[in-house]
Amino acid sequence: MNVTIDFGGTNIKIGLVQEGAVLAKTSIPANSGDGMLARLPEAERAVRGLLAGAGADLGQCEGVGLSLPGIVDTGRKTLVSIKGKYTDAIGYDYAGWAKAAFGLPLAVENDARAALLGEVAYGAARGERDAVLVIFGTGIGTAAMMEGRVVRGKHDQAGILGGHLTTDVYGVRCACGNPGCLEAQASHWSIPQRAAKLPGFAASALARENGWGYEAIVKAALEGDRFANRLLDDLIVHWRAGIVNLIHAYDPEVVILSGGLMKSADVLLPRLTERLEASAWLSWGAPRFVVAQDPETSALLGMSYLVSRQLAGADAERNRSPEKA
Ligand SMILES: [Zn+2]
Repeated sequence: MNVTIDFGGTNIKIGLVQEGAVLAKTSIPANSGDGMLARLPEAERAVRGLLAGAGADLGQCEGVGLSLPGIVDTGRKTLVSIKGKYTDAIGYDYAGWAKAAFGLPLAVENDARAALLGEVAYGAARGERDAVLVIFGTGIGTAAMMEGRVVRGKHDQAGILGGHLTTDVYGVRCACGNPGCLEAQASHWSIPQRAAKLPGFAASALARENGWGYEAIVKAALEGDRFANRLLDDLIVHWRAGIVNLIHAYDPEVVILSGGLMKSADVLLPRLTERLEASAWLSWGAPRFVVAQDPETSALLGMSYLVSRQLAGADAERNRSPEKA
């Protein structure tokens, strides 16, 4: 059994995982404005509470798997770079924390890579060796696997910056500095800001909502709101451009879509994938599109998988990909 923690921007998800099964899980608020390190004692208490509730103890656990947003150094087991929140955690000794708090070894990984591993090991893309994952959450996270290995690159950035692929060179400047990033154009955090400046917004049902996002747009569009329909058309252009960029970069067999946007998958999937061959160079056919099996737990499952592989010695060779035996 492994202790798994998925440190998100809004919630910290915590689970006890054994061989692809989440035995128990809980969630605590991230309070991201206070930084990440301030939340570690609460996360530790939540882990102990879960164990007590499951009638288990730390002696039955093999290790701790921690997924983090931002750029993660899996060898040094720390956060290297992040924009906006959680900058207090850069360079932090997470392995030391896990040893002091639980007496257990630790594996860390970027949260989207963890989710991709969870979906490939146990979920909607089980057994695939060439896959990309896109999480439409508050921002847009991505990860890629090629020939059975999660893509990491020289500086741990490869595959995870798909939300920062340009979909409009004249677009909004993103927190990363690049103009027109996919997530600055078409993610949960950016859409309301951008929409409010578009003509016709005031007449839309969306103008009368607070804190609206993906679900509200789809709902308003289906109800015939003209502005919402135009906005959705525009967003689909950006989302599809992001997906085409990822297909061109990583040559996947399967594209896994996850995050809050996929609550509307039945409406959106046909539109995201229609005439894909007209906008993507595909010499062999087209990738299969799947929706993540359980977006709430895929990162937890992926981290448990990583911990077990790491402890099994698959990571004995330095810098070698932990998931490749
Ligand atoms: Zn960006």
